Amino acid sequence: MNVHSVEQVQKLTVIAPATGQIIAEIAETPIHEVPLFYQRGRNAFAAWSSISIPERLNYFRKLKQLMVDEMDQIARTISDDTGKVLTEAIVADIMPTLDAIDHIIRHAEKVLSRQKAKTPFLLIGKKSYIEYMPRGIVLVISPWNYPLQLAMVPMVSALAGGNTVILKPSEVTPLVGKCIEDLFNRSGFPEGTVQVAHGGKEVGAAFTEGKPDYIFFTGSVRTGKIIQQQAARDLIPTTLELGGKDPMIVFKDANLERAAKAAAWGAFTNSGQVCMSAERLYVERSILEEFLELLKSEVRTLTQGTDENADVGSMTFPAQKDIVKGQLEEALARGAKLETGLEPENWQEGMFIPLTVVTQVEQDMKIIQEETFGPLLPVVPFDTEEEAVILANGTVFGLNASVWTKDKEKARRVASKLVSGAVVINDVIITVANHGLPFGGTKESGIGRYHAEGGLRIFCHEKAIMEDLGLMNSEIQWYPYKGKYPLFLNLFKNYFGENRNWLSFARDYLALIKSK
Ligand code: NAD
Repeated sequence: MNVHSVEQVQKLTVIAPATGQIIAEIAETPIHEVPLFYQRGRNAFAAWSSISIPERLNYFRKLKQLMVDEMDQIARTISDDTGKVLTEAIVADIMPTLDAIDHIIRHAEKVLSRQKAKTPFLLIGKKSYIEYMPRGIVLVISPWNYPLQLAMVPMVSALAGGNTVILKPSEVTPLVGKCIEDLFNRSGFPEGTVQVAHGGKEVGAAFTEGKPDYIFFTGSVRTGKIIQQQAARDLIPTTLELGGKDPMIVFKDANLERAAKAAAWGAFTNSGQVCMSAERLYVERSILEEFLELLKSEVRTLTQGTDENADVGSMTFPAQKDIVKGQLEEALARGAKLETGLEPENWQEGMFIPLTVVTQVEQDMKIIQEETFGPLLPVVPFDTEEEAVILANGTVFGLNASVWTKDKEKARRVASKLVSGAVVINDVIITVANHGLPFGGTKESGIGRYHAEGGLRIFCHEKAIMEDLGLMNSEIQWYPYKGKYPLFLNLFKNYFGENRNWLSFARDYLALIKSK
C-alpha cells in the first residue's frame, strides 16, 4: 500500500494523499485482542443499557460541544487524512455528523420509548405495546470517503438505544479513526461503551467473526457481500450501505444554468468519491449542445488543490485512481470523446485527477455500468421520458438520483419510477442532509435504511408486549373445545362478513364465554 502501509511492527503509516508526506503512525489492533474488545463491550453493556435515554443523551451533548469547540482541528485532520478540501470536510463530514447528533438528542427519547399499538376488537380486554430493547454490541465498519460521518452517525444511533459499539474505521483514513476514538474518550463515555479497533480487512474480518449482535457496514459491494456471508453463518442482522452509480436526468425545460452547476458539483465534489456522486448525466437531446457548453464553462472555473480556497481536493486511495483510469481508457478506446480533462497517459503523478467530462459513451461501457468513485462524468442524450427512466434504471445500483425539470408533475412521475433509495428534484445528493429522511440503497446499493426513526430502531429488538389484567380464569380459545366449533364459526362468519351484526356477535361471544 502506498498511502497507508501496514508494516511488520503492525503500525499504519499515514501518508497525506494530497502532499505525499508521512503525517502519523497508528498502532494496529492485534487480532488476538478481538475477544478482549467483545468482553469489554459486553461488560459495559449492562450499565449502559440500563441507564435512561436522557442520561445517555447527556454524553451526546458533551460530545457535540467538544466537536463544536474543536471543529477547525477536526476539519484539518479530515483534510490531511483524505486529501479533501477544508470546506468539504466541514460542510459534508462534520456538519452532517453534528446535525445527526442534534437530531438524535431531540428525537431519541420519543422514538425509542414504549409505543402504544392498537389491539384488535376480537382480543377484548387486552392492551398492546412495542418496546425497543438494545441488541448488545454493534460493530460499525466504515469507509474512507466521509470517514467521520459514516462512522459516527451509526455509532451514535446505536448508542442512543443502549447498545455498546465497536468501530473499525477504514485503514485508509486511520487518523480520523483515532480522532473519533479520542472524541468519545474525552466526552466521558463509560469504559467499554465505545471502542475503536484500528487496521485493515483482516482486522475487520476478525471482528465480523467475533459474533457481534449487529453489523452496520458502509463500503464497497464486494466487501458488503463478504460481510453478509459471514453474518448469515451466525444469523447476525446487518445494514449494508454500499456503492452507487447515480443518474442525473436533465429535461429541456430545466433551469439549465442551475443544472449545469449542479452537475459539476454533484460529479466532482470530494473528487467524485461520493457514494451518491452524479456518475451518469442524461440530457434531453435537443439541449445537449447548449447544456454541454454550460457544463464545460462551469468545470473550467474549478480549481484543484489543497489550499483553503481550492474547489476540488485530491483522490484519497491510490487504488481508486487506477479504477478511474481503467474506466476512462476503456471508454476512449471504444470511441468516447473527452469534453474536459486529459487522456490518462497525460495525467500527472500524484493523487489529483483532471476533472473529466466524456460524451459518445455506450450503455454497456464500464464508465456507465460500474461505480467510478472519481471525477469522471459521462454525458448521454435521451429522447423521451420513458427512455430516460430505462437508462437511469439500467445498472445494478440504486442509491440516489436526480430529476431536473420545471414541470412538477413530470418530476414527480419520473422520481416515482426510479428504482432508487432516494431521488432529488432540481438538486443533487441533498436528501442525505435531512436526517429525518431514511437513507439507504436498492439493488446492489445495499440492504436496510438508517437515519430518521428507523435509523434508531434498527439497533434495537422490536419487542411486542400484550397485557391482560388476568382477572378471568380462562380465555374463549383455551380448552375445553367441546361445543365451541359452531359458536366460533358463527362468530367469525358474522364478524368478518360484509354485513356484521353486533347483536349476533354479542350473543355468540357470550355463549363462548359461558362454555369456557
Ligand atoms: P471497502 O469495502 O474496501 O472498505 C470498507 C471497510 O470495510 C473498511 O473499513 C475496510 O477495512 C473494511 N473491510 C474490508 N474487507 C473486509 C472484510 N473482509 N471484513 C470486514 N471488513 C472489511 O470500501 P471503501 O473503499 O473503504 O469505501 C468505498 C466504497 O464505499 C464505495 O463503493 C462507496 O460507494 C461505498 N460507500 C457507500 C456509502 C453508502 O452510504 N451507501 C457511503 C460511502 C461509501
